[in-house]
Amino acid sequence: MEKKIIAKRVHCLVLAYPLQGHINPILQFSKLLQHQGVRITMVTTRFFYKNLQNVPSSIALETISDGFDKDGPTGASSHKAYIDRSCQVGSETFVHLLHKLSASGDHVDCVIYDSFFHWALDVAKRFGIIGAVFLTQNMAVNSIYYHVHLGNLQVPLTQQEFSLPALPKLQLEDMPSFLLTYVEDPCLLDFFVDQFSNIDKADWVLCNTFYELDNEIASWIKKIWPKFRTIGPNIPSMFLDKQYIDDQDYGVAQFNYEECIEWLDDKPKGSVVYVSFGSLATLGEEQMEELAYGLRESSSYFLWVVRASEQIKLPNFFEKKSEKGLIVTWCCQLKVLAHQAIGCFVTHCGWNSTLESLCLGVPIIAIPHWSDQSTNAKLMVDVWKVGIRAVVDEKKIVRREALKHCIKEIMASEKGKVMKSNAIQWKTLAIRAVGEGGSSHENIIEFINELLHLQI
Ligand code: UDP
Repeated sequence: MEKKIIAKRVHCLVLAYPLQGHINPILQFSKLLQHQGVRITMVTTRFFYKNLQNVPSSIALETISDGFDKDGPTGASSHKAYIDRSCQVGSETFVHLLHKLSASGDHVDCVIYDSFFHWALDVAKRFGIIGAVFLTQNMAVNSIYYHVHLGNLQVPLTQQEFSLPALPKLQLEDMPSFLLTYVEDPCLLDFFVDQFSNIDKADWVLCNTFYELDNEIASWIKKIWPKFRTIGPNIPSMFLDKQYIDDQDYGVAQFNYEECIEWLDDKPKGSVVYVSFGSLATLGEEQMEELAYGLRESSSYFLWVVRASEQIKLPNFFEKKSEKGLIVTWCCQLKVLAHQAIGCFVTHCGWNSTLESLCLGVPIIAIPHWSDQSTNAKLMVDVWKVGIRAVVDEKKIVRREALKHCIKEIMASEKGKVMKSNAIQWKTLAIRAVGEGGSSHENIIEFINELLHLQI
């Protein structure tokens, strides 16, 4: 992107939702805009603010409140309590922020907001500011929720199989989990569907994916939202096109980098299974035990991220560091996935982890838990063909034998080689999409150019 467009006057306010999987991509997108000369003010909640590190000093930071400044979302008594309060307090404090900026003569040209903060569009419109929604989830999942919003997909679901425009046939178990748990917990589905309540009024709809990966659904959705654009994958440049040497990580607290890399350094190429279930998923003790013994008994090395709050569930006396395996509480996932020793990724298929494995050419073993993860797993296995889904038993547990079978298949079979080679092809396409003239790059330039044009 050496042809920097002169967008010094454009000022975007970027409203980030306080979850790791949401902050990471929107911060990356902000950095890309900033590299093109756009001025960025990033806004997050007071609670999440302290987790932000390594945000370039050229990006200004501001906060709003979600009503839970001390404890964040865990401070709320229920999902509903958090959603209701954050919506009310969030929009009030966002209004204060816009007044403050306006009073100091700091003009805002565009509010780029996480779709979970859909109310930000109404606030932006009240101030006469352009609103660009940023979708952090996969397009298939977004389109499923949009169909629920339109009433095309009725919940509770009564069918086994679903044919939706521009998507592969989906079975019940491929659908986002909140559609399946609607009867017990309607609030979560409502929250996800509400992202689309005002999307038709958004001036831009930006999604963290790339056209080549999601071309059918992207072309279909563009007919409905003409300003829909793919602008991803939003991962640091040093793991993609290597345009910006200062863009090495997500800017969110990272730990254990050196320990992991030192341990990986003396392992043979493609010999290590990397295991992580992201920043939120919690596993039962029985599942942890099966994974632990499955990994220990497999013929591969393993590097396993078990968050501090989950470590108590590891089997008694299970070694955290041995010749065979290393367990850490967190790592720099991108640096790990980029390491030559990694052979495959056992993942919950969160959308960021999914994109990261595609961008770094690492095949996967899918163990989805909830939310969008089953749909992502379906695409990874059946459409993008870069992995296999681990079989679960009647208690929905992946047994050690099933895990060992998957590891053998990915690491040491002809099928595994094909998946690896498919993953490498996606990596090539992802790098092309963000590079000069690539699909996402062109969309970003168009977005900035229109904002510039509006100022003249
Ligand atoms: N991640 C990380 N270190 C870890 C585990 C995860 O840096 O040890 C990052 C990962 O690279 C990804 C994010 O955390 O960017 C997790 O997002 P994802 O959408 O995959 O899952 P979520 O946490 O939202 O369930």
